[in-house]
Amino acid sequence: MINYNPKSSKAEEFIHDGEIRATLEYAEANKHNAKLIDSLLEKARPRKTEDGWLCAGLTHREASVLLACDLPDKNEKIYEIAEEIKKAFYGNRIVIFAPLYLSNYCVNGCVYCPYHMKNKTIPRKKLTQEEIRSEVIALQDMGHKRLAIETGEDPVNCPLEYVLESINTIYSVHHKNGDIRRVNVNIAATTVENYRRLKEAGIGTYILFQETYHKESYEQLHPTGPKSNYAYHTEAHDRAMEGGIDDVGLGVLFGLEMYKYEFAGLLMHAEHLEAVFGVGPHTISVPRLKRADDINPDDFDNGIDDDTFAKITACIRLAVPYTGIIISTRENESVRGRLLNMGVSQISGGSRTSVGGYAGYSAEERPHDTEQFDVSDQRSLDEVVRWLMDNGHIPSFCTACYRLGRTGDRFMSLCKTGQISNCCLPNALMTLTEYLEDYASDETRELGHKVVERELMNIPKENARKIAAEQIEYIKKFRDGNADTTPDGRRKRVEI
Ligand code: SF4
Ligand code: SF4
Repeated sequence: MINYNPKSSKAEEFIHDGEIRATLEYAEANKHNAKLIDSLLEKARPRKTEDGWLCAGLTHREASVLLACDLPDKNEKIYEIAEEIKKAFYGNRIVIFAPLYLSNYCVNGCVYCPYHMKNKTIPRKKLTQEEIRSEVIALQDMGHKRLAIETGEDPVNCPLEYVLESINTIYSVHHKNGDIRRVNVNIAATTVENYRRLKEAGIGTYILFQETYHKESYEQLHPTGPKSNYAYHTEAHDRAMEGGIDDVGLGVLFGLEMYKYEFAGLLMHAEHLEAVFGVGPHTISVPRLKRADDINPDDFDNGIDDDTFAKITACIRLAVPYTGIIISTRENESVRGRLLNMGVSQISGGSRTSVGGYAGYSAEERPHDTEQFDVSDQRSLDEVVRWLMDNGHIPSFCTACYRLGRTGDRFMSLCKTGQISNCCLPNALMTLTEYLEDYASDETRELGHKVVERELMNIPKENARKIAAEQIEYIKKFRDGNADTTPDGRRKRVEI
């Protein structure tokens, strides 16, 4: 008999099917238990302390009760608290990133992804280092500073050496005032040694989606290839941590299995990382299954509607208050707008999900031949930035923690007390000003400068406010050619 054990290194023990089923039964039995629900809401609510904020989070059992609850007034409270937590820990800033697809060669047979090995209609492509340089220049010219690189799994056509060389190339490109300052990596599960090499290459977060926590479904959805090994895939984040990668990202592809099962599994995975390494997931992504080359989402029975999707996101925010929640351009403008008020803290913008989708294409053109999925939000980065500001958010291109050594448990301890927000706001305003000066349209720049001016006053610590104000002035002077530069003639940078 397999026992549930969050501290175990075995997938079947920390993602324990029996515990998930018992959780779902408990949630169903208590979904109208107003007294219990009120106590859980009270527990999840952020509390102000002398140093910042404290938030208790919820266990997978507790959060599953809230997810199952269908009492409208309680659901409203869940949404309210999700927003309160997001504001307490991350303020109103939203970090922006873009995916960069390097290769779509893949030896796996995932039935929901058009890159699966048996798909003979999709062209296979792997970028050369020269093409990566062009892609990075195109991304820098849009204003991006943070990328998530994506590849299929193919040890022959896309070995780790290729990924490492590509990361090096990405960091080496400095076009005009552009830099890529953080490269997050979304590649297949690998060995501790390979994770160590990725860490040495300077990656930010290692992201790996579980797709589904339901083992039987997992095996049906991944019939062939190395990814078909459920345990090896599920234990990958542990190996990444052992290899020295402090920040790991989780995610489920909602639509493959019953969402309540996935939700409980996802939170158990977060609890496992916390129990074993003392650090929960740096990020949690919430992708939903989308149409692509030979993939029709209607072929899958477990699709979820927008309301359920919003509820899942809000409940994740209550359960894991310190994690960054990521939503991609898989979702359209209206869904993204709604979720931004329920705890999402990172979004992609101006994304292309094909291999080589940026260089040589205008903002309106997008190649579809090698797309991994249909992009629902097709707006340019400039439009996304303006839209965020129009809706009271602060778009941030900040990547400071990674360089200042605020990763892993150091980051988490700052985040869990809410102190990280003393860094996020000034960094957001400085990097937003860089964006406004270097890349924004006139309309976005005009609005952005007003936002920056107003938000500067909201930086709580005087010293941080002064540093940010001086740097913002410096960026403007640099634009006019009246400022010092680094020895190689570039703009100086300050990070808090
Ligand atoms: S999901 Fe990843 S591993 Fe599976 S077919 Fe697509 S690219 Fe390959
Ligand atoms: S200061 Fe750290 S947590 Fe805040 S936005 Fe920057 S990188 Fe993210």
